[in-house]
Amino acid sequence: LSRSEGERRLAVYSPRQPGASLRRLTLESQLRLALQRRELFAVYQPQVALADGRLVGLEALVRWRHPERGVVPPGEFIPVAEEAGLIAAIGDFMLRESCQAAVRMHAAGLPPVPVSVNIATGQLRRADFLPQVLSELESSGLAPALLEIEITESMLMADVQSTISLLAALRERGVRVAIDDFGTGYSSLAYLGRLSLDRLKIDQSFVRDLRVPGPAEGIVRTVIALARSLRLNTLAEGVEQAEDAERLRALGCDDAQGYLYDRPLAEADLLAKYRT
Ligand code: C2E
Ligand code: MG
Ligand code: MG
Ligand code: MG
Repeated sequence: LSRSEGERRLAVYSPRQPGASLRRLTLESQLRLALQRRELFAVYQPQVALADGRLVGLEALVRWRHPERGVVPPGEFIPVAEEAGLIAAIGDFMLRESCQAAVRMHAAGLPPVPVSVNIATGQLRRADFLPQVLSELESSGLAPALLEIEITESMLMADVQSTISLLAALRERGVRVAIDDFGTGYSSLAYLGRLSLDRLKIDQSFVRDLRVPGPAEGIVRTVIALARSLRLNTLAEGVEQAEDAERLRALGCDDAQGYLYDRPLAEADLLAKYRT
């Protein structure tokens, strides 16, 4: 293996493999520096209405411009960041950056659609999470209704009472809340009805499974019926083919996000395509 090949494979090494912990340590210290050196940046993936293709939102996704390895995807460094206690700093950066970018893009002619920001467990559990969100909204000038936070099912179920009140407090202020990767975790249906939510994001694994005969269609149909009864918006992730969009539209899904429409884009590219 060449050095770069070895490093690219880093994320798939399990801790049992020799050298894995050293590589992880290296990555961890490089990530620490990355924050200081401003090597992290955000890209934005459009979300569209399945009915007419109009832009309905943007998801902010973090990237790391590594000095030797090029752009590193979040799957390779978010888990390291969570374990190393760096996730709060990355999360703060993404929240600030996304709010500011949304205000810039709206001012430059992008339709006033919300920006969705992924929140990590270690971020949501911090006592100052709510004040942090409110302060980023205030300093950027972004209307609360134009910010959506994305959390996963496991985060909801970990500490139910405090999550219920946190989400209710956010939504009282007008901030939107989406459940990411819905269907891949363990949600209690009883709690789902007690949580203050706006949207369920149907995980891309279901969208992929819809392409072949099997149980996926019934599952997606059920998730959409559940969302409707809770008055939640539905968005399908990982829509890559026109047939995916067709099927999801027929099943009554509201919105979609995926390579069929756009890859995650830099701010300038997004504006070039969507400003009006
Ligand atoms: P996610 O939040 O579920 O984001 C969707 C992922 O699917 C993104 O990968 C996106 O680039 C990818 N994707 C979008 N459309 C398609 C498609 O049509 N086909 C396929 N195969 N993939 C598609 P990405 O950017 O690599 O992010 C991976 C995960 O990393 C995210 O999953 C999210 O859990 C996490 N992540 C990304 N940015 C952040 C962040 O700022 N903070 C936190 N805490 N987590 C983040
Ligand atoms: Mg997400
Ligand atoms: Mg997702
Ligand atoms: Mg995901």
